[in-house]
Formats: sequence, C-alpha cells, structure tokens
Amino acid sequence: MKQLIISNGFKAHKPHFVIVPLLAQGHTIPAVDMARLLAARGALVSFITTPVNAARIRPVIDQTEAEGLSIRFVELNFPWAEMGLPEGCENVDLVPSKELFKPFFSAISLLREPLELYLRKAEPSPTCIISDYCNFFTAEVAQDLSLPRVIFHGPSCFFILCAYNVCKYDAYEGVDEFEPVVVPNLPQKIETTKAQSPGWFAGGPDWADLRDKALEAEASADGIVINTFYELEPEIIEYYKKTIGKPVWPIGPLSLCNRDLTSKATRGKKSSIDEHQVLSWLDSMEPKSVLYANFGSLVRTKASQLIEIGCGLEASNLPFIWVIKEVDRCPELDEWMSEGFEERTKGRGLTITGWAPQIVILSHPSVGGFMTHCGWNSTLESICAGVPMITWPHFADQFLNEKLIVEVLKIGISVGIKVPYYYIKEGEVPAKREEVERAVASLMDKGEEGERRRERAAVLAEKAQKAMEEGGASHENLTLMIEHVMRSE
Ligand code: UDP
Repeated sequence: MKQLIISNGFKAHKPHFVIVPLLAQGHTIPAVDMARLLAARGALVSFITTPVNAARIRPVIDQTEAEGLSIRFVELNFPWAEMGLPEGCENVDLVPSKELFKPFFSAISLLREPLELYLRKAEPSPTCIISDYCNFFTAEVAQDLSLPRVIFHGPSCFFILCAYNVCKYDAYEGVDEFEPVVVPNLPQKIETTKAQSPGWFAGGPDWADLRDKALEAEASADGIVINTFYELEPEIIEYYKKTIGKPVWPIGPLSLCNRDLTSKATRGKKSSIDEHQVLSWLDSMEPKSVLYANFGSLVRTKASQLIEIGCGLEASNLPFIWVIKEVDRCPELDEWMSEGFEERTKGRGLTITGWAPQIVILSHPSVGGFMTHCGWNSTLESICAGVPMITWPHFADQFLNEKLIVEVLKIGISVGIKVPYYYIKEGEVPAKREEVERAVASLMDKGEEGERRRERAAVLAEKAQKAMEEGGASHENLTLMIEHVMRSE
C-alpha cells in the first residue's frame, strides 16, 4: 500500500477523496483548487463532473495531468432531458430562465444513482466524500456506503453563520422584506434585510424542501471545510463552530494553491485574452494605479448599466481593466463603445469581453483596486492580493460579503446598492456614472483614508499567504481533516 505523509512523521495509506462540487463556476473553481491541494498531499482524488463542464475545464484537466497530480475527472451524464432543461444545460450559468433553476437543482439530485454506481466500483475504494453544501443528495449515498462525508462550504464563514442564524431564530418572521433586521447571535451588530440576504435556497415557498434537505445533510455530516482562513474571521469561525457543534476546518484561501502562471491562467475556463498580453499591458502602468472591474461568472448587466460604468471609468481618468461578459454584449453597447469610448480611453483602458485571467490580473503590482460583485471567490482573491475593493453586490451571499468587506474588515467602499438586481425595474439603473466615478476616486485616493485601507488589505494578504504555507493554520486544518476522515474509515 502506498504511504501518505500527512504531517511531520504521520504516515498512512493513500486516501481516496471524492469531491462532488456544485455545477457553478464559483463552486467548481475552488473545488478544483481543493482537489489540487489534496493531490499534492499524496491523496487520490475523484472529481465528479459532467461532459459539458469537463469540456469547459479541459485546460485545467490537462494542466493537472501535466503536473502529475492524481486527480481523476469523472464524467457523469447530466439528466437535463429528464427535467425538461435545454440540451447541455449542465451549469448554473447555462440555466436560461429563473423558472428553470428549480428543475436544474432537481436534475442535480438525480446524479445520486450514477454517483453511487461509480463509488461502488471505484478502485481503490473511496475514503471520504467531500460534497458541496448544495449537493445534499450525497448524504444518502454516504450513508448507504458507510462513508465519511465532509461538507464543502464555498462562501465566507460570515455568510454561513448569518444565514444559519436568521433561519434558526426566524429573524425575518413578520418583518417587511426591506426592513433592517439585526442578525441574531453574532459577535458584533450586523444589520441586513430579507431582500438582501434571504439565505440558502430562497427562490420561494417551493424551495423550502431543498433548504430543509440541505440543513439535514449538514447536520448529519462528519465535518465542514470552508474556503476561508482563521485570521480573516476568527470570532465568526469560533461562533460557527459552537453553533454547528462539529469539526470546522477553514482551509483557504484555496486560490493560493495556484503558484505558476499557467495554473493561475487556466482557472475556470480558457481566458478570452492571452495572459502575457494582459501582463505586458499591466507592466506598462504605475504601481497600484489600475482599477480592475469584473462581476464574476453569473451576474448579468444591462447595456444601460454598462454604459454608466464605462462613463464612470472614463471620468475617473485612471487606468482600468474592464471585463464585460460575452452575453452582455449587444448592439446598444457596441454602438456606444465604438462612438468614442474606446478612442477616448485608448492607452489607459483595457476592455476584455468574455473570461479574464482574474488572479493573474489581481496579483499584478499595478492593480490598486477591484470593483467587484462581492462573490466570495473574487473577494478572497482580492484579499490574497492585498487589493481594496469597491463593493457592488447583486444577490445570494454578496450583500453580507459586502458587510464583511466594508464594515468588519474595512478594506472596501460601497458603491451604494441597496436591493438585489431582481428588484430593479425596467429602465432603472442601480448606480449612475457619478456614483461609479465617486467610488473609484475614493478607493484609489492617495490620501490618509485610502492609505489606511491599503495597509489593512496588505496585512490581510500577508496573513492569507502564511495560512496556506506549511505550519500555517489552513495548512494544518487540511492535515487535521485528512487525519479525521482516515480515523473514521
Ligand atoms: N473568474 C475568472 N474570470 C472571469 C470571471 C470570473 O477567473 O472573467 C473567476 C473568479 O476568479 C472566481 C470565480 O470565477 O474564482 C467567480 O466566483 P465568485 O464567487 O467570485 O462569483 P460567482 O461567479 O460565483 O458569482
């Protein structure tokens, strides 16, 4: 039997982890990072995916193969037809309408059978399932096969604890959805509204069954890994451990496992721009002078809002990299861009349509600010790079992440969005060009306040790096998790 060295002197046989990520970029990307980390420790990893998703992450698959990491990408056929989904609808970002989200989650649950079949035949037999919180169907699979099961929480511990507490204490009961509510049982006073932070599986009353199943699956899990690091949110993590009453291992920031340029540039999917081209553009800019704007993988932005963002960036007179999704390009936007925007910002503005090599950009010394939708991965990636943020939440965990960034960590400023994007009426623009310009100017300001914000961000970046190094808290926590599940085998 092959030997695995987990920590100083501790040897065991090679464990086999089976990672079952949620099929959404913001969940799959850190799950791949986790697979890389486990494989680097000598474990075998089966990474569950589907044909469409495997095709997307082909560059990542090739890269992990080239590095000789023991990761098997296992493709299970996704039952889109059974649930009336369009052909190939295998990722949250491919779901064409709001009404199809529930069928999409029901289709995910149908992966239970093929997953169990794979696990029964897998050689060597699996040691442990690490399942995304949303994939509650893995609870029954683990029970049937008597396997330990660990939950992977993609969002911040801050969000997880807040969502758990508002649900446990019925904090929104009888309160108007736009009225501020103090989140119960937190180490400090944090207010939110039901509209901003409805919690997990909050698509409406018919989602309650999914929410309950996820809570049950969490309650019966052997432990929880979170993509965060202890020193970022120590009190919150302690409160969460007490609340949940089971082992909690913060093992992030997971993105830091990508050390060389190729692994940084292939994260998620193939970039729409060559990473060397972006790097040489950034090399030509002054340190900390560039504002980077990108709203992650799911947020959709209307042309009217994109035009306001563009005008705000132009008025700031600062260098910028602006990422616009392919699906958001439309004749109205194209016309406005070609009517002089590109010409007027030539030399100081780089617009990328499609997918950007985000961590390559954020970790370049010329980047001084990030306008973000506050997705947790983007937030953590900014923290790792010591880059302060302009916060522009849209939905899900993003409003609470904004609170963490602005009110708790004090490393960002808000553009001023108060309600999720699905409350925005036709013709309304959530943030006007003046607000964008104001936010960019205050974030990039060289005065005392801006300096202090940058210093706080730099301190956190150093702590993040240390957490992932040998002897660091997250490194140790991964060891503890591996040892824990191997003892339960
Ligand atoms: N991302 C990227 N390039 C892009 C857009 C997104 O590499 O152009 C990555 C980003 O680095 C992050 C993930 O996609 O790791 C997005 O996750 P996040 O939690 O920030 O937001 P979500 O997409 O889930 O809303």
